[in-house]
Amino acid sequence: MLSQRTKQIEESATLAMAQKARQLIEQGIDVISLTLGEPDFPTPKHVKQAAIQAIEAGLSDHYTNATGIMPLKQAIIDFHQTFDDVSYSVKDVVVGTGAKHILYVLFQTIIEKGDDVLIPTPYWVSYSEQVRLAGGQCLFVKTTIDTDYKVSVKQLDEAYTSNTKALILNSPTNPTGSVYSKEELQEIGEWAVKHNVLIIADEIYYRLVYGNTQSICIASLSERIQQNTVIINGLAKSFAMTGWRVGYALSKREDIIYGMSQIISHETSNLTAVSQYAALEALSGTQQVVEEMRRAFEQRLNIFYDKIKTIPGFELAKPKGAFYLFPNIKNTLELTGYTSVNKFVEDLLEEAHVAVVSGDAFGDDECIRMSYAGDIERLLEAASRIRAFVEEKISQRES
Ligand code: PMP
Ligand code: GLU
Repeated sequence: MLSQRTKQIEESATLAMAQKARQLIEQGIDVISLTLGEPDFPTPKHVKQAAIQAIEAGLSDHYTNATGIMPLKQAIIDFHQTFDDVSYSVKDVVVGTGAKHILYVLFQTIIEKGDDVLIPTPYWVSYSEQVRLAGGQCLFVKTTIDTDYKVSVKQLDEAYTSNTKALILNSPTNPTGSVYSKEELQEIGEWAVKHNVLIIADEIYYRLVYGNTQSICIASLSERIQQNTVIINGLAKSFAMTGWRVGYALSKREDIIYGMSQIISHETSNLTAVSQYAALEALSGTQQVVEEMRRAFEQRLNIFYDKIKTIPGFELAKPKGAFYLFPNIKNTLELTGYTSVNKFVEDLLEEAHVAVVSGDAFGDDECIRMSYAGDIERLLEAASRIRAFVEEKISQRES
C-alpha cells in the first residue's frame, strides 16, 4: 500500500526519542528527557495576550492570505532589517506552519528527481528526509570537531556535482552549536554564487548566540549573495513558541517565492490565523523577554557544559549558539565496552533514565545529542546520572 516515497524515509529521530521518553514518564518513571530542542519557557505573556485579543476581535475566524497577513510580513521584514541589516519587501516573504513546513515546501518547489543537495554533516534530522521526499539526493559533506564542525569551500568543491542545486547552511547549527563567521559565510556565499548553487540558509537559532559570538545573516553580505539565497527562519526557538508553528522564508527569488505560495495554497491554505497575530506581536513588541531567555540558555550552557565535558571519554567543543551539546563519545564506548552509540543510548535511557538522541540521525554515529533548553536542576541531575552510568560501566569492565 505504501508509496516508495514513504518507504524510503525514517521517522524523525528527535520526535521518536521524545515520545519514548514521554511513554516512560507516563508509566511513572522519573526520566529526564534531553531529546527535543524546545525551550521550557512559556510563550511571552504579551504575545499570548495579543493572540487572545485577536480571537476576541474575530480576527482568527477566517482564512487569511495563503502566505500570511500583510502586517506580519511587514513585521518580519522590519525585524530582519533591524537585526541583520538586510532589506526585503512583502513580495519576498512566505509564512508557513513552522520552519519545518517551510523547508518542506521549499524542497518541493525547487527539487527535481536527480537533483543533488549539499548537506554538511552533522545536520538536523529532517533535511535529509525532506530532500528525499522531494526526489532529490543528499550529498553529505562531513565536518568534524577539528574544524569546529564547519564546512569549507574546499570540501564543497570536492562534493559538488553538475546536478548540485542547493546547499543547506544552518548557522547556528543544530546539533553542534557551531556558528559561521562573517568571513566564512562570505567565502561560502561567493562559492555558491559562482556555481549557481542556491543557498538555503536556515537561521532559526540566529538570536541564540553566546559569549561574544555574533550571528551573521548570509544574505546581508552582498547583493549577489542575497539574490542567491533563501533565508529560513521561525519563532519557535527564540520566542519560546514551538506550539504556534510559525515559520517563514525570505528571498529575492520571485520564482521560488511564487512556487512556494502555489504549493501552500493547495496544502494548508494558510498558517493558523491566531498564530499569525501572535507572531506579529512577538516580532514587533518588546524584545526584553527574548533577551532574558537567551541569557538563561547561556547560563544553562555554561553550567551544563562544565559538567558534561569531564565525563570520561566525552569529547566536545563549547557550542557558540543554539541549545544542544553534541559530544563525540567514541572514547567512552571503548572505555565502557559498548560497540554502538545506539546501544549506549538505549541503556542510558533504561538504566539511568536519561533520554538523549543518537548522533546517527544527525549523520554522525560517534556522537549523542543533548538539548539543554530545559530546567537547570534537571540538567544537573541528568549530568550526574550520565556520569554515574559511564563510571559504573567502566568499573564493571575493569573488575
Ligand atoms: N531548522 C532547525 C535547524 C531546527 O532545529 C528546527 C527544529 N524544530 C527547525 C528548522 C524547525 O523548526 P519549527 O519548529 O519552526 O518547525
Ligand atoms: N528542531 C528540534 C530538534 O531538533 C525539534 C524537533 C524536530 O523538529 O526535529 O529537537
